[in-house]
Amino acid sequence: MPTDIESFSAHPSDVPTSLQIIPRDQHPISRKGISANALRVLYRLREGGHEAYLVGGAVRDLLVGGHPKDFDVATSATPEEVKHLFRNCRLIGRRFRLAHVVFGREIIEVATFRANIDDGSGDRELHEGGRLLRDNVYGSIEDDAVRRDFTANALYYTVDDFSVRDYVGGFEDVRNRVLRLIGDPEQRYREDPVRMLRAVRLAAKLDFRIDPASADPIARLGGLLAEAAPARLFEECLKMFLSGHAVASFEGLERHGLLATLFPESAAALASNRSGALRRMLMEGLRGTDVRVAADEPVSPAFLFALLLWPAYCRALMALQAQGVHAPEAQRRAADRVTLHQLTTIALPRRFSLPMQEIWLLQTRFTQRQRKRVVRTIAHPRFRAAFDFLVLRQAASDEHAEDIAFWQAAQHDPDNALAMQESIDEAGEQEPRKRRRRRRSTGAASPAG
Ligand code: ATP
Ligand code: MG
Repeated sequence: MPTDIESFSAHPSDVPTSLQIIPRDQHPISRKGISANALRVLYRLREGGHEAYLVGGAVRDLLVGGHPKDFDVATSATPEEVKHLFRNCRLIGRRFRLAHVVFGREIIEVATFRANIDDGSGDRELHEGGRLLRDNVYGSIEDDAVRRDFTANALYYTVDDFSVRDYVGGFEDVRNRVLRLIGDPEQRYREDPVRMLRAVRLAAKLDFRIDPASADPIARLGGLLAEAAPARLFEECLKMFLSGHAVASFEGLERHGLLATLFPESAAALASNRSGALRRMLMEGLRGTDVRVAADEPVSPAFLFALLLWPAYCRALMALQAQGVHAPEAQRRAADRVTLHQLTTIALPRRFSLPMQEIWLLQTRFTQRQRKRVVRTIAHPRFRAAFDFLVLRQAASDEHAEDIAFWQAAQHDPDNALAMQESIDEAGEQEPRKRRRRRRSTGAASPAG
């Protein structure tokens, strides 16, 4: 068992802390799992006479046997002192300064211990709703621990004696695979609503459960997420869906009622799609994304958002068509409308929203077989992504087998595919199959697939 060093001490933020030191022989973290550059930073700071710890997600991930992507360091040194010790150091951030120590492509982020207290200097400001706007006061390691979000994220590893320091019971929580907010959950969510998303994301990533006291307020407070900075929500979405845990994250969002806040129009479309085809397609796409990440294959935000907003797009398209707007115009307007609405919560940059729309708009082209159009469709820079998207739609509705077979062949040998198509068409001139395809060509985005 970890050794109890200090008993509970009164704390400015009202969170009781008690230091437990978990010695090297009682935890699995070894220097082999830590980036050589992060170790370099830790040793150097220590030689400079400062306290320095590996902290946050890296310690948590190492404890559960994971391989952290980035390594954050917390230190008693001020940013200027850090800069003094490292030639390859940049200071970033205007009010709260952070040091980035740069080793080629790896950046070790070094943050001075900071506190979550109001010392009257005006360096910390709260929004009326309790939202934290600035957080700029240096503090002790204990202060630094309690201003973090989850106990599992507040563990400090030191190369002094390779022990882990735990002020908030995080070691025990990691062992029990529990995510628990530090302090009063409602207050912590009000300070920063993105923590609700982090709870869902980290639970999905780590296969942890969210402690009921931390999970319960989410249903009630989820709406606050709509006020979070859209750029931050975009970043969180990428972490949530492009790190190999998209399916679990999506299910977590649904379970905690956050889907409707993040993607209101898609959530509404999914809820009213009685056949469940839209959800099937979405889940199939997310599963595919997870498989690609696991295989180290590239994944694209444009494709991801095409998937996440497809239900919204289908719904908008049907509404426009019901108003009598003709297909090509309706498609363009639906794509623009959905993108514009979504931007109010999630800042999807244009370099992703444009290809996302192209993936949608290309779907109708897959029903068109005129030679010139076929050649143009295949040459489109988004052809491959749009074709993969079509394959997903097939997984949900089984309506696109013919199109898939044609385009599969056409991308390798368009002339041969067209010749085959022509002979099929001639043979079946009167068959209903062909007429059905013609009718369908205007409704390529029907929610059925
Ligand atoms: P990931 O595996 O996604 O990197 P992480 O926990 O490392 O997860 P980061 O965004 O890298 O997430 O944050 C690093 C650390 O900073 C966290 O472990 C936590 O201690 C602290 N932190 C991050 N976001 C918040 C927040 N919104 N509120 C309080 N502390 C936070
Ligand atoms: Mg991290």
